[in-house]
Amino acid sequence: MNRYCRDLFSLVAIIGAVLTIGQAHGKSVAPPPPFAAWLADLKAEATRLGIRRTTLDAALKGVAPISRVIELDRRQPEFSLTLGSYFSRAITEKRIAKGREMLKTHRKLLDRVFKKYGVQPRFLVAFWGLESNFGQYTGVFPVVGALVTLSHDRRRAKFFRQQLLAVLQLIDKGHFPASVKGSWAGAMGNHQFIPTTYRDFAVDFDGDGKRNLWNSLPDIFASAANYLSRSGWQKDRTWGREVHIPKGFDFASAGLDTRKPLKEWGKLGVRRHDGSRLPNVAIADASILLPAGYRGPAFLAYKNYRTIMVWNRSHLYALAVGHLSDRLSGKGGLKADLGSTKPMARADILDMQRRLNTAGFDAGTPDGRVGPLTRKATKNFQRRVGLPADGFPSVELIDQLRQRTN
Ligand code: CA
Repeated sequence: MNRYCRDLFSLVAIIGAVLTIGQAHGKSVAPPPPFAAWLADLKAEATRLGIRRTTLDAALKGVAPISRVIELDRRQPEFSLTLGSYFSRAITEKRIAKGREMLKTHRKLLDRVFKKYGVQPRFLVAFWGLESNFGQYTGVFPVVGALVTLSHDRRRAKFFRQQLLAVLQLIDKGHFPASVKGSWAGAMGNHQFIPTTYRDFAVDFDGDGKRNLWNSLPDIFASAANYLSRSGWQKDRTWGREVHIPKGFDFASAGLDTRKPLKEWGKLGVRRHDGSRLPNVAIADASILLPAGYRGPAFLAYKNYRTIMVWNRSHLYALAVGHLSDRLSGKGGLKADLGSTKPMARADILDMQRRLNTAGFDAGTPDGRVGPLTRKATKNFQRRVGLPADGFPSVELIDQLRQRTN
């Protein structure tokens, strides 16, 4: 749940402009309970958790649901994102230049953070660039008001109530004021931490007694590094790399579910993108990814890639962090062409999910989003009809499916 939310935060931060209002999944959401009674119950629960009455009265004074927040929560992208469209927004020349400058400017501090937490500076700066454009955009919504809105609303009440209580705890402890601002869904600071992540992973690295993720770069970098480190980051490894896969490669072995030693992939003919052999390092659990289908670029993903997905479960996000970190360290662009994949309309994805379900391939409840179940169902369908089983839903695939299921 946490990850779904983080996913949305980044999407909104990076590609807010391409989102359009579609048919809300809100159609089936029951009306919220009477607000005053709901608020009284929330205050009672917060008090039981030890949050002071004075904090609650100040933080919740005059609070009311914000209709704009509900509107944003109900928004759906009209088209799916492609690797090409995502990268063209997330990894611009301007961002690369700025990131390299930041890496230089804050080198000493970043090295100290690396010593303590073991996350390489280029990754911390890459996350920073993607989450808030290096601190330039940390959100303008009142976090308490936004989270009151989303936990009063019934669509994801349980998750957001947890976030609201965490934010009230942080305010009570004096880490930031009740007027704290963030994203419409409550993500805060330079790395857009949701409140529970803030509560559990943010650290005070400059020693002033507060965990300040807006104005203290020591706290900002160290908190991101602490979160990654505790999520399994490996300090002596990179995230993965772009690779070349051989003719006849079994596309069905792509995906994070299949993990093999680097050596094994080498034996199967996987090479660096320039055609040379894979590095001779003992990596036991590498996966091949085809984020734009079998005709698009191929990547090897290592343990740190999976850790990036703990932060944000989107493959496009994880690839963007990895690739941006490479660019910050001076490496060149991707070799493969990213421009050829067509985005899919949400309506088509819904239709595809329904057809896959009807044909006996379990794509889950149709929601217009391509998730792990939809990919798996797609892979099984492709295998059944003798198509390259890359599990990548495409415009061409929908045509095939329509022909075969009409
Ligand atoms: Ca501090």
